[in-house]
Amino acid sequence: HAQPLPSLDDLVEGVRAGRRAMLARAITLVESRKAEHRALAEQLLQALLPFTGAAMRVGITGVPGVGKSTTIDALGSYLLDQGHRVAVLAVDPSSTRTGGSILGDKTRMARLSMDERAFVRPSPSAGTLGGVAARTRETMLLCEAAGYDVILVETVGVGQSETAVADMTDTFLVLMLPGAGDELQGIKKGIIELADIVAVNKADGANATRAKAAASEYRAALHVLGGREAHWSTPVLTYSGLTGAGIEELWSQVRLHRERAELAGAFADKRSAQQVKWMWTLFDDRLRDRMRADATLRAELPAIERAVAAGTLSPTLGASKIARLFGW
Ligand code: GDP
Repeated sequence: HAQPLPSLDDLVEGVRAGRRAMLARAITLVESRKAEHRALAEQLLQALLPFTGAAMRVGITGVPGVGKSTTIDALGSYLLDQGHRVAVLAVDPSSTRTGGSILGDKTRMARLSMDERAFVRPSPSAGTLGGVAARTRETMLLCEAAGYDVILVETVGVGQSETAVADMTDTFLVLMLPGAGDELQGIKKGIIELADIVAVNKADGANATRAKAAASEYRAALHVLGGREAHWSTPVLTYSGLTGAGIEELWSQVRLHRERAELAGAFADKRSAQQVKWMWTLFDDRLRDRMRADATLRAELPAIERAVAAGTLSPTLGASKIARLFGW
């Protein structure tokens, strides 16, 4: 049932006009592994590049159950009411194993997914974290070209996917549960260190007091860690995704974070650094793909690795041997 590929001009025009069907087709191209699709996707991204970059890019993480989808639904709806156009994307490398992403699932965001002004896209399910992150990043650019001015990128509070999302967004929001204990683990794992804003969810009903207590603990912990950037010290808020109380303040902090970064000249620098880092990540991925695809390399690498593991070949010499296989 393969549809004929749209022309580059049709894609550019359709995406820029904000036509959802064309945006969806463009994303499918970006997510495809077929060489023909990838080639067209590359041309499309290059053509759309001048029309990207204007959105607020916000990463959102937290352990399962913290209330990510509830929060995104509430925050997204609030932003739509403010006149924004909101796209929700997700980075969930585990979706490769489970066969479906729980992140960015439309059924979890009842209000947003029903709203014409919002665009909700689950995590691409193909490949490694690097691959998933690259596709989400490209999808983010397509959404920006289509006129979405707020991009929310959701990820889970485990593993390296946080770093990948922090690397593609301007402001990284870490959601926490009321009651410390387990949550303080986040500080040890370094997740808190990535946070531009820490927000304790479920500050409603009987949890309100516990949420405030948890917030104080995080504030103290962050104080000990010290700030990463001279122009910003990570605020800790409490809110309720369920009732919407505190959502407005949460967004004010996101805006404040951006304003401060712009004033300090750090905003453009961060975006530039992210672009360059992304290029090298893509190049590294290609290098790895090439190694995997090359018969000689594939044949030689296991023996080299074994020798290094056994201690009969020094890692330095091992690296030289691999380089020589490339002809370097
Ligand atoms: P996710 O796994 O991080 O996406 O979490 P969900 O948004 O699915 O929420 C997990 C559970 O917590 C659901 O039962 C929600 O109804 C509940 N929940 C989410 N936000 C709040 C909140 O602000 N207050 C309360 N009381 N419950 C919440």
